[in-house]
Amino acid sequence: MTDLKSMTPEELSVYFKELGQPSFRTMQVFRWLHQGARSFDEMSNLPKALRERLKEDCLLTVPEVERKQVSKEDGTIKYLWRLFDGNCIETVLMRYKHGNTVCVSSQVGCNMGCVFCASTLGGKVRDLTPAEILDQVIFTQQDSGETISNIVMMGIGEPLDNFDNVLRFLTLVNHPDGLNIGMRHISLSTCGLIKQIDKLAPLGLQLTLSVSLHASNDETRSRLMPVNRSVGVGPLMEACRRYFETTGRRISYEYAMIDGVNDSDAQADQLAQLLQGQPGHVNLIPLNDVAESPLKPSRRVRQFQQRLERHGVTATVRRKLGGDIDASCGQLRRKHIQQQ
Ligand code: SAH
Repeated sequence: MTDLKSMTPEELSVYFKELGQPSFRTMQVFRWLHQGARSFDEMSNLPKALRERLKEDCLLTVPEVERKQVSKEDGTIKYLWRLFDGNCIETVLMRYKHGNTVCVSSQVGCNMGCVFCASTLGGKVRDLTPAEILDQVIFTQQDSGETISNIVMMGIGEPLDNFDNVLRFLTLVNHPDGLNIGMRHISLSTCGLIKQIDKLAPLGLQLTLSVSLHASNDETRSRLMPVNRSVGVGPLMEACRRYFETTGRRISYEYAMIDGVNDSDAQADQLAQLLQGQPGHVNLIPLNDVAESPLKPSRRVRQFQQRLERHGVTATVRRKLGGDIDASCGQLRRKHIQQQ
């Protein structure tokens, strides 16, 4: 089955040319797809014969709302979508003063194995297609009636472990005839896959790269994040430096604060040392409790932040949204799998 929604306009135009269609079909169909058409029959300006042909040849992905939870505290909405093959993924809509932000998943599950993360507990089932990543933005917008201005790739999955599909998604969501979301309104979060960071850098995308650091030394990081066992903190920071030098974009470092594991003053000093001479920014995240994990949230977030700032490192504490609806990474999908 041809997946039209994962195609760029250039690829679509080849497809329609082969069908003997006039060239204006390309953008007609592109717009329908990106506006969230739920069937080919909806595409009222296409001839009936063409619609029938597309129905036979093409896959049109329309995720179904399997569960939807709305936070009473702050209006955050969490969607659990059922994909065409029955797999489920999560998307979160967060309302900020600067606009609505959607947090999208890039894979069904994850292979990275971070010990504090609910998304990785069952491993990776499969990669999402570009269309399935895009669908999360399109259909969150359609279901909620809210316009989305920012995207964070911080949902289930490791985006750089699905490199080609994620890049294609970025091209599509950025397209002026599609959702037209600017690269500067997109953040991509990675556990730190060095080869892929080096592959991303020369593309010069204006998005914000977030690196999940979570520790200031190899001993702690390898304990929390298996990915660190093959490539340590030193080489990772070198890759980050190269990324900044190539793109001119400051990196944002994520640091989930875990009680007694990575929250000491000595570790704050070490973290400041790592970031020396590099214009980065640290985002301290209060750890979200995951039922399956013995790790607990740190009680030293403010002290840690102040200690970093004393070293001249800018650090912000991430505001927690949707605490009443399992809004963090992978929690709702996990619960759903366990209930079945
Ligand atoms: N795989 C990517 C993106 C997905 S996770 C990555 O690793 O960056 C998005 C962010 O949430 C990452 O920084 C991740 O480490 C963090 N995270 C995962 N589980 C968490 C938890 N229980 N508490 C706080 N942050 C968590």
